[in-house]
Amino acid sequence: MRKALGAAAAALLAIVGSSAAMAARTDCQPQALRDLQRLSPQGRAIYDQIGDKRHFLRFLTCEDVVLGLATAVHESVHLLTSEKNAYPLINGGIAARATEDLRFFPPRAIARHFSAGDVYVQSYLKRGSATSNEDFRFLLDELNAYSHDLNSAVKLASLRKPADGEVGHRDGLASLMSFVMSYVDTARQSEPGTWANLQRPEVKETVRTLWAQAEAVLASACSVPHFGQDDRRPIAFLADASNGAGLAELLGRAPLRPCQATASSGSSLTR
Ligand SMILES: [Zn+2]
Repeated sequence: MRKALGAAAAALLAIVGSSAAMAARTDCQPQALRDLQRLSPQGRAIYDQIGDKRHFLRFLTCEDVVLGLATAVHESVHLLTSEKNAYPLINGGIAARATEDLRFFPPRAIARHFSAGDVYVQSYLKRGSATSNEDFRFLLDELNAYSHDLNSAVKLASLRKPADGEVGHRDGLASLMSFVMSYVDTARQSEPGTWANLQRPEVKETVRTLWAQAEAVLASACSVPHFGQDDRRPIAFLADASNGAGLAELLGRAPLRPCQATASSGSSLTR
C-alpha cells in the first residue's frame, strides 16, 4: 500500500508539473467539497469516512476540479481499504479482502499480454511498480479505486470547463478491468493454486462484486465526451471474445464488454 501510494504521489506530481504548482491553488477546495456533496454523494461519503482529511485535500488540485476530486476519492479509497482491511464499495457496503494466508500468483506475470510501453502496465504490473504487481489483493484495490474515481468523474462531469480538454478518466478503469480479466484467465489456464483460491466462496464473491461494480461504472461513462485518452486498447481487450473465459466461469455469466464504440486513443496519466 505504501509503495502504491508512493507511485500515486509521483504520478500526481507529473500531473500538476511541480510541487510549487501543488501549493499554488487550493482556493477551489471548499466549493469543490460542496459540489461533491451535491453531485456525487457516494464520492463525498469516502471523504466523510477517512479520518485524515488532509490526505484527501492533498490530492484535490484546482487546475481541473473534476480530475482533482476524482483523484482525491481514488487515493482515499486506498486509505480506507487499508484501514478497514476490506474494499469500500460505491453503494456504501464493503467487500472482503482475501486473507494473507491465501496464495495468488504475482500479477506482474500477466504483463506480457499487454504492451510494455503502456503507462498502466508500467504503473501497476511492472516489477518494482505499485504493490498491485506483486499482490492480487492490491490489483483488486486498484480496480475498486478506479471504479470510485470514474464514478465520481461521471457524476461531476457538469463541472468540466472547455479548458479541461480531453482527460483519460475512462483509461484507468478500462485498463484495470483488462488486467483483472487477463489475471483470472491466466489463473484458470496455468495457475491451479490461484485458480483454486479464486473459487473459494468469499474470494469469488469479492471478485464478482468488484467486477460488477466496475462494469456498471465503465458502462455509465461510455458516452461522456472528452473522457478517454488511451482507452481504446483496454476496451478492445475487454471486447475480444477470446478473453474472459475465466471470469465467465467465476461470475457464472459472460462478463459485460462496455464502451466498444466510444473509445479513443492518445497519451494518459495514472494515479
Ligand atoms: Zn491507485
